[in-house]
Amino acid sequence: MNTTRNPDVPLAPDLPAHDGPLFATLWETAGDIVVLLDRGARLEAISDRGLALLGRTRAQCLGRGWPDLAVAPEDRARLRRELEALPENGGTGLAEHDLVTARGTRRLAWALAALPGRDGRPPRVLACGRDITDMAATVKTLRENEAAYRCIFNAASDAIFLNDAETGAYLEANERAVALYGYTPAELRAMSPAGLSAGYPPYGAEEIREKTRLARQGQPQLFEWLSRDKAGRLFWTEVNLRQGLHSGRERIIAVVRDITERKMAERALRESEKKFRQLAETIDEVFWLGSPDWKRIFYISPAYERLWGRSTKSLYESPLSWLDAVHPEDREQVLGALTALIGRPVTPGVLPEYRVVRPDGSVRRVQARYFPVADDTGVAYRVAGIIEDVTDRYAAQEQLKRVNERLEDMVRERTRTLNRMNQELIREVTERRDAEAAMAMAKEAAEAASQAKSAFLANMSHEIRTPLNGILGMAQILAATPLDGPQQGFLKDIEESAGSLLAIINDILDFSKIEADRLELSREPFGLRGVLASVEAGLGVLAQEKGLGLSVDVAEDVPDLLLGDADRLRQVLVNLVGNAVKFTEHGGVVIGVQCVEACLPPEAAEDHASQELLFSVSDTGIGIGAEDASRIFEPFTQADDSYTRRFGGTGLGLAITKRLVALMGGSIGLESVPGQGSVFTFTARFELEAYPPEPAAAAPSPPPLPPMDVLLADDNRVHRDIIEKWLLRRGHRVVAVADGQEAVDAVARAPFDLVLMDIQMPGMGGLEAARAIRALPHPGRAAVSIAAVTAHAMAGDRERFLTAGMDDYLSKPVVQRELDRVLAGAAAKVSGAVPPPGQAGPDG
Ligand code: ADP
Repeated sequence: MNTTRNPDVPLAPDLPAHDGPLFATLWETAGDIVVLLDRGARLEAISDRGLALLGRTRAQCLGRGWPDLAVAPEDRARLRRELEALPENGGTGLAEHDLVTARGTRRLAWALAALPGRDGRPPRVLACGRDITDMAATVKTLRENEAAYRCIFNAASDAIFLNDAETGAYLEANERAVALYGYTPAELRAMSPAGLSAGYPPYGAEEIREKTRLARQGQPQLFEWLSRDKAGRLFWTEVNLRQGLHSGRERIIAVVRDITERKMAERALRESEKKFRQLAETIDEVFWLGSPDWKRIFYISPAYERLWGRSTKSLYESPLSWLDAVHPEDREQVLGALTALIGRPVTPGVLPEYRVVRPDGSVRRVQARYFPVADDTGVAYRVAGIIEDVTDRYAAQEQLKRVNERLEDMVRERTRTLNRMNQELIREVTERRDAEAAMAMAKEAAEAASQAKSAFLANMSHEIRTPLNGILGMAQILAATPLDGPQQGFLKDIEESAGSLLAIINDILDFSKIEADRLELSREPFGLRGVLASVEAGLGVLAQEKGLGLSVDVAEDVPDLLLGDADRLRQVLVNLVGNAVKFTEHGGVVIGVQCVEACLPPEAAEDHASQELLFSVSDTGIGIGAEDASRIFEPFTQADDSYTRRFGGTGLGLAITKRLVALMGGSIGLESVPGQGSVFTFTARFELEAYPPEPAAAAPSPPPLPPMDVLLADDNRVHRDIIEKWLLRRGHRVVAVADGQEAVDAVARAPFDLVLMDIQMPGMGGLEAARAIRALPHPGRAAVSIAAVTAHAMAGDRERFLTAGMDDYLSKPVVQRELDRVLAGAAAKVSGAVPPPGQAGPDG
């Protein structure tokens, strides 16, 4: 530094001269620049350092106005004001403004001093300036830094405390700390960390002191802490304690973070994780969680150990070790599928089914499904999977498949069989249809044959009975004429022969009726003992003639009044007793009757109870051999031809008897010892009857009738003559014709009281003639009484005749009693006793 005396510099007027060097030294060293200005701010003197700062020579500067010379234009006016404000005498002041120097604009701090005018010198201003450009920048930076730090300090989301390491007292706290704990900065400064803690172990003063101690030893402390705010609320914080120096003093900086939410989230997570684990560990399927690159496993459920037979630990250690257990035959496929997945975004999928070979060699079949686990933004950060043991299901499916195949085979086989059977069936049906058709034809033929047989038998009996009737009738008429002894014997023979022939004919007719199922039993009340007596009387004569005894033995309690067909019962008894008499030479015949079980009392009739009776016909005759015993009930069978020939017979009697017994609800049996005799037994069931039958009107004396006009139509002359004679003897007038047409004509011509109409006549038959008469225009004649006369004794005939318009029915051979009945009916009609509706009389 140049310390030489600068001639421009005036010596300080107040200083003694010998202090000149001191002043000169001060002048040059007091600041970076020293100037002396007159009150008009013109430069009077300047220090050398000042010139150097400005980068000018003294000559360039002295005498010039200082503000214009060196002060930055924006500061000039202010400087002038400051200079003017400076008190005249001895006033001082401070100023700061920019100076334009050789090194650019510099900031200078000035000390101003007003020098009084003395010794004729005008007052001046001494200004001593210091270049503070650098310092100002530093201070500014510092201020800015400070502001920035404070800004950060307060902007921090964590609470930040600054503590005195020694006393633990809070020195500073940021805004977050104030907000978090609720204390004002002033309140905080009066507190220590223990005051912001829960206050009990392990969150008490002792523990915090220990942590502070460690932090002071240079071990930063990071820990969770239960804090307490001004309101007393406890909350979780995370505290970061570290040691620091501040203004040369040891401090503890505490950064405190509110982790309440994190704690809650953690707890929620823990709970959900617990649930997840419970779930994952309870299910039978293997559940796993891994990285999306398929290379790491984070979790695998214990089911893995059951299914794979390997520990989960082994899988955590070597995440791809599950592949080692995949069955060699399946491995390639699984690896292929897995390779295709790696490096791609995870989407839900299924791995092909594969087998797992366990360490013990057993094999399980599994099915693995996987799916991505995405975070909130949708990015898959995990892969999860479920592996299911499908061994049993697979086996069941396979089994089902096999069963199905077998079933299908069976169905195919069955279909084939069915088709075969169907064809067979069709063939059989066709055959059967043909057979049925043939059978139907055969049946029709058989029925036709049977009908033909029945018709033939009926015709036969008609044809035989008619002449037989003639024989008997003529014999009766002949008997009424005077005859000598031998003639009477011949006549008796004629009557006997004709009678037995009539019996044979009746047998044949009966049998044909039974065969054709056309025999119906009547159901009339009758007295059992009366029937037995009539049989006894009828055959007793024959037995007597042979010197045989015939007796009836009826158990006392056998009920007498019965309901049934007395005629058929009589027929059965006559057959059996007749045979017994026929085949017995010595001894006798006994008819016995008893109840099969207990005999019912007569009162049982009220309940329509039925009684089963056991009849027996015992004889002491020739007997029947065992081999014949079963045969004789067959039609046309006789035991001993030679013997029978002697006695005659058709071999039909027992066959008819057996069938009649069956119709009476019973069965017939035989016990016989050849040479000793036979016992025929049969059972029959009859309902009990409460009321006795009305006694039959005395046949021989019919009440005398008024004479009537009778038309007799019959093609058989003998028959016609017999009937005509009977009618004439009864006092009636008779017109006889030989066919149907003649009958119709006769009725149309003249009135009649009765027409006796033979059914079978050549030309117009009886039925046709009856219909023609009913169609006559004359109402009286059309309504004449017509009685059918026929040998057609088949069931249903009567109905047929009545529907054809007949009023009555007479069967051939005509018996006088029946003829009288028909005549009486016609007479009643004529007299109006039973007038037919809409009819007045024979002649209208
Ligand atoms: P028929 O009308 O010829 O007598 P039946 O059917 O009544 O026919 O009898 C058949 C046969 O049974 C007879 O021919 C006879 O040989 C034998 N028969 C029937 N009843 C007796 C009896 N009471 N004693 C011995 N033989 C009998």
